[in-house]
Amino acid sequence: MNGLEGAGVADQVIVIGGGVGGLAGAIRLATTGHRVTLFEQNSQPGGKMNLFEAGGYRFDTGPSLLTMPFVFDQLFEAAGDNRPDHLEFVPVDPVCRYFYPDGVCIDSSADVDAMQEAIATLSPADGKAWKHFLEYTRRIYDATADVFLFSAFQEWRHLLKQRNLGAFFKLHRIDAMRTVHSAVSSHFSDPRVVQLFDRYATYNGSDPYRAPATLNVIPYVEHGLGGFYIKGGMYRLVEEMVALAVRVGVDLRMQAPVEKILHNGKRVEAVVVDGARHDADAVLCNADVVTAHQHLIDGLDNRVRKLKRLEPSLSGMVFMWGVRGIHRELAHHNIFFSKNYEREFQMLFDKRSAPNDPTIYVAITQRADPSHAPASCENWFVLLNMPYLADGQDWQRTVGEMRQHVLERLRNTGIDLHGKIELEEVITPEDFHRLYGSNAGSIYGLSSNTRMAAFRRPPNRSRDLHGLYFAGGSSHPGGGVPLATLSGMLAADLLYEHEANR
Ligand SMILES: Cc1cc2nc3c(=O)[nH]c(=O)nc-3n(C[C@H](O)[C@H](O)[C@H](O)COP(=O)(O)OP(=O)(O)OC[C@H]3O[C@@H](n4cnc5c(N)ncnc54)[C@H](O)[C@@H]3O)c2cc1C
Repeated sequence: MNGLEGAGVADQVIVIGGGVGGLAGAIRLATTGHRVTLFEQNSQPGGKMNLFEAGGYRFDTGPSLLTMPFVFDQLFEAAGDNRPDHLEFVPVDPVCRYFYPDGVCIDSSADVDAMQEAIATLSPADGKAWKHFLEYTRRIYDATADVFLFSAFQEWRHLLKQRNLGAFFKLHRIDAMRTVHSAVSSHFSDPRVVQLFDRYATYNGSDPYRAPATLNVIPYVEHGLGGFYIKGGMYRLVEEMVALAVRVGVDLRMQAPVEKILHNGKRVEAVVVDGARHDADAVLCNADVVTAHQHLIDGLDNRVRKLKRLEPSLSGMVFMWGVRGIHRELAHHNIFFSKNYEREFQMLFDKRSAPNDPTIYVAITQRADPSHAPASCENWFVLLNMPYLADGQDWQRTVGEMRQHVLERLRNTGIDLHGKIELEEVITPEDFHRLYGSNAGSIYGLSSNTRMAAFRRPPNRSRDLHGLYFAGGSSHPGGGVPLATLSGMLAADLLYEHEANR
C-alpha cells in the first residue's frame, strides 16, 4: 500500500494544526496504525486553504488553482480510498487571462499549440520559442522532482537510495546559477512574455529577479502536468481530507490551540492545550516552523536565531467582493500586470512596502460553479502580492490605497465596479499571521530567493528533539497545496520509520 507496513508504531501521535499538511500527515499516520489526535486552534480546519460565505456568496479564501493532482490521489489511495469518488478535479482552460498595461490581452492555454498561438500574438519569435521553453522546464522537473519533492532528501538514508542518488548527480541540470528572470529572458524577447513566465516564481512566494532558475519547473507543473479547479470550490479538498481523516480514525479537535510542546531536552513528551497536558510519543507540527520554535518550544534559542535568518515568502492582500453584474470579459483566472515588474519586486522585498502599481489577480469561481454567487452576480477573489510583515507598515491605510488602485486599474481596462460591490471582506498580511500563525504573515512559508534555499528549508524531522516532526509550507518541500500535502506525507513516513520499535 505505502511500503511501510510491518514495523511497529508510536502509540500516540499529536498533530498540531489542521492545514493540508497536518491533515495529510494525520491521515497517513492513522493509516499506518498510529493513534492520532489533531489539535487545530481555529473553529474551521484548512488553515490558509479556507472558506468564507456570506450574503449568498461563497469564496475560497486562499488557493484557487490546484496542481499535481496525483499527490492527492496517492494520499487517498494509501488510505484505501479513491479520490475521484469524493472530489472532481476540473481542468481549467484558459488557464489564465492576462491583461497588459498597453491594453493587450491574451489567454494562456493548457493546450500546448493554443499556448504557442497565444504567445505568437505578442511575438511570433517567442511563439516559436515556447515549446523549447516547455521542454527546458520539463528537464528541470525530471532532474528535481524525485530528490527535491518526493523524498526527504535531508535524510542521508533517503538521499542514498539509488534512484535519488542518480538524480542528485544530475543536479547540474537544474539551472541554479541563473535567476528565473535571466533564464526566462534567454528564451523569450518580448517583455510581456517574459513577465508572464517570471510570474511563476510567485507561486511559491519568491522574487523572479533573485530566485534560482530551478523554479522554472513551475510552468511545467502547470502547463505540462495541468492546472485544476475543484468542482464545488477549492475548500472541498479540505472537507474531503477531514472526512477521510475521520474515516481512518483521526481524533480531530477544533478550537484547541496548542500552547507548548513539552520536552526533556532530548525528546518531546507532551503538548499543552488550554492548560491541560496531553502526553505524546511523537508530535507532528503543522504550525509554521519559525513560529513554533519562537512560541511553542522552549530552550532552542540557537535554532530560533538560525530560522530567523531565512527570508519569509511573499504575503498577500485579499479582497473578496460580491459583485453585481456579469463581466464577460473576465475568465475564471485573470491577471492584470503592473507596468514595471522589477520595481514591484524591489518594493516587495527590498523596501518591504506595498507596491504602488501591484499586479492584480482576480479569480471568479462563479464561472465554474454558478451557485457561488446569487443570480447575475459574481464572487471576486482579488489577490495582490504584499511584503511580509516588517516595521513601518500601515495595513489599514494600505487597504484603502490598494482598493483605489484596483478599481482604477479595472476602470482603465473598461470594467467599472462603481456601485456594484455589495459585499466586501479583506485579508491583510497581519491577518495571515493572526489567523494561522504564519511567520511574518508569509503565505508560502519561506521564500526561495537564494540558490541554497531548498537546502536551508527546515527538514521534516527536528534536528534538536527526538520525536518531533514538521509538515507544511514552511518545511520541506515547501509551500503550495500539493507540496504542503506532500510535506505531511513525508513527515508521517519519517515518523513511522524513526519511531517504530524505538
Ligand atoms: C491568498 C493565498 C493564495 C494561495 N494560492 C494558492 C494556489 O492557488 N495554489 C496553491 O497550491 N497554493 C496556494 N496558496 C498556498 C497554500 O494555501 C499553502 O501553501 C497551504 O495551504 C499551506 O498549508 P500548510 O499545511 O502549511 O498549513 P497552514 O495553512 O499554514 O495551516 C496551519 C494550521 O495550523 C494551525 N495552527 C498554527 N498554530 C497552531 C497551534 N499553536 N495550535 C493549533 N493549531 C495551530 C493554524 O490555525 C492552521 O490551521 C495560497 C495561499 C494564500 C494565503
